Amino acid sequence: MDYKFKLSRIHCAGCALALEENINEIEGVSAQINFVTRHIKIKIDTENPAETLTAVKITISKFDHSIELLDAEDEDADEKREKLERVTNIARFSVSLILLIVGFLLEVSWVKILFCAVAYFLAAYDVLWGAILNVKNKNIFDEKLLMSIASLGAFVIGEFVEAVFVMLLFGVGEILENLAVDRSKHRIKSILDIRQPYANLYDGENTTQVEIDKIAVGDFIIVKPGEKVPLDGVIIEGTSHLDVSALTGETKERVVTNGDKVLSGSINGSSVLKIKVTSLAKDSTVSRIIDMVQNATETKAKSEKFISKFSKIYTPVVLGAAVFLAFIPPIFSGYANFLDYAYRALCFLVVSCPCALVISVPLTYFAGIGALSRAGVLVKGANYIEVLSKVDSVIFDKTGTLTKGEFEVTEIYANGEHTEDEVVELVAYAENFSNHKIARSVKKYYKEKFSKKPINMAWIEDYEEIAGKGIKATIFMSPTLVGNAKLLKENEIRFVEVSKPGTVLYVASGDEFVGYVVIEDTLKPDSKRGVQELKNIGIKRVSLSTGDETNVAKAISAKIGLNNFYADLLPEDKVAIIEKEIESKKTVAFVGDGINDAPSLAKANVGISMGGFGSDVAIEASDVVVMTDEPSKVATAIKKSKRIHKIATQNIVGAIAIKAIVLGLVGFNLAGMWLAVFADVGVSLLAVLNALRAMLK
Ligand code: ADP
Ligand code: MG
Repeated sequence: MDYKFKLSRIHCAGCALALEENINEIEGVSAQINFVTRHIKIKIDTENPAETLTAVKITISKFDHSIELLDAEDEDADEKREKLERVTNIARFSVSLILLIVGFLLEVSWVKILFCAVAYFLAAYDVLWGAILNVKNKNIFDEKLLMSIASLGAFVIGEFVEAVFVMLLFGVGEILENLAVDRSKHRIKSILDIRQPYANLYDGENTTQVEIDKIAVGDFIIVKPGEKVPLDGVIIEGTSHLDVSALTGETKERVVTNGDKVLSGSINGSSVLKIKVTSLAKDSTVSRIIDMVQNATETKAKSEKFISKFSKIYTPVVLGAAVFLAFIPPIFSGYANFLDYAYRALCFLVVSCPCALVISVPLTYFAGIGALSRAGVLVKGANYIEVLSKVDSVIFDKTGTLTKGEFEVTEIYANGEHTEDEVVELVAYAENFSNHKIARSVKKYYKEKFSKKPINMAWIEDYEEIAGKGIKATIFMSPTLVGNAKLLKENEIRFVEVSKPGTVLYVASGDEFVGYVVIEDTLKPDSKRGVQELKNIGIKRVSLSTGDETNVAKAISAKIGLNNFYADLLPEDKVAIIEKEIESKKTVAFVGDGINDAPSLAKANVGISMGGFGSDVAIEASDVVVMTDEPSKVATAIKKSKRIHKIATQNIVGAIAIKAIVLGLVGFNLAGMWLAVFADVGVSLLAVLNALRAMLK
């Protein structure tokens, strides 16, 4: 059983990690906490899931009794509570600060101590309470506990003002961090806010508003101007402009009319559309995008995994150092300077929380996933951002990826007694059941030219599609072949190979060559720019791989500036090429249209599909989906990923470096509690702000 909840309040990222571990210790349970969204996913694999879930709940409340499990979807109630909490916190911190200032100005006396003590408890009571609970649960590496010991210790050794200040900064820092995290969440939510919860169901006479879950495939719906299209479908009536920017990031409006496919999430511009629904709410494009982006933020990148491991070592090491500092050096000086060393040890405690890392790195990827999806690039996990940033070889599929996949018939040749019409007819019959882009184009041509003669499927038998070669079938009672030269040679047909600028479909019927049809595809307008941009960002190896013939591959490569091509390939040859490049230590991105490229998409380090706008196969088989079908988006995706990865690295290196330096300074008595607090709260804040840069262009 899978459950999903929202955790009411888990404010420290380190705690989220610890809690996740505690829950995972329960048998048959695997849990995943997303600190940024505060969602917890619990997978229970036991005989009695309900009982196990109760055990999970007990574990959570033992860990921190203030955490509640909320309905994952009910964001509003949660947000209201958060806001209220924030306001009360700001109020109590303000009062605490005023008391602190008064205390600071007073001479040391019991009055000063009193002011500071009140200020301290006002700023710290919730942290102290949390610390006590954590001790009860034997959770000693917790941030609240460390901060409590550090500040109480400071109080005891007479550093009253500093004690209060540590807690105040800690609290204020947390508020600011939360605000920053909220901002990024809102940005992502607005990207995902493309769902229309209801549809205007049309029953032939009237329209009624119905929830989208209740609509079946084949129902008719009406979409008014200004409304979002609630479900995927085909236009039955009406012509309008569609704004698809939420789906693809492209700002140009599309004109759509009868027979055109429309995707849920696009916004209807100018006039009423009647649409026949083609997919249920849960299978619609919108749901798939939302699922993908949400799941993406839950798949962790390597650097995220690194920091969770690092933080597990870091805290105990710093704590060990603190204990050492407090007790060992004073032994050698006969305890004369015990207080001095105790103070340094307390400063160590303040720096010992790895929060800056634990929060900022996942946040960087989270913000990055948002930025990418806004640009029309959906990634299936933070880990793919990392892989994308390291790509040094990009291999493009040809048909449907660099080219539009809309073939025009440019030449027909009939051999012997056959007529051109017969050749075209044979091709159209052979391609009837195929979904290949070649087939679709030929069928369209046939329909336009021979509109009076529909295809009679009774004449098509033993249909077989051979990937990368063509079609084999029995048509009009004769064994028929339509495909490339490889296919005919393999079947020992005698024919003369020709060299044409386009793709040649050779036709054989009854073991005899009867002619060929030449079809030509057009390049996508931004293919050339796409290749150029990849070169501009330093990717030296950009290649083409195709099942088409060498001369076609060569011509296209020259046209768009590719430095390498592989032609005459079967789908498994493409996989072998990718394998070889991976073996030679390259990070390979394969870009395909997802129709027969699934094995290559899966084999490459990162498989990028041209979304085919709603094509299931593409979304399933690839790691990254380009919603706009534009090859130039590959460069965009890599460029952005490099930047996101760089920000994450800056956060890791920066935070660790600052903490190490401050620990050094404090250890040698060159700095005090103030700098320690900066190394904790300040660095967290800087790292979070840096992470938010990943959201920008
Ligand atoms: P690409 O690698 O360019 O995407 P494919 O691997 O799909 O191309 O196909 C390679 C070649 O196989 C095509 O250029 C064509 O000659 C032949 N072929 C594949 N499918 C068909 C088909 N349905 N009908 C005719 N020929 C086909
Ligand atoms: Mg293809």
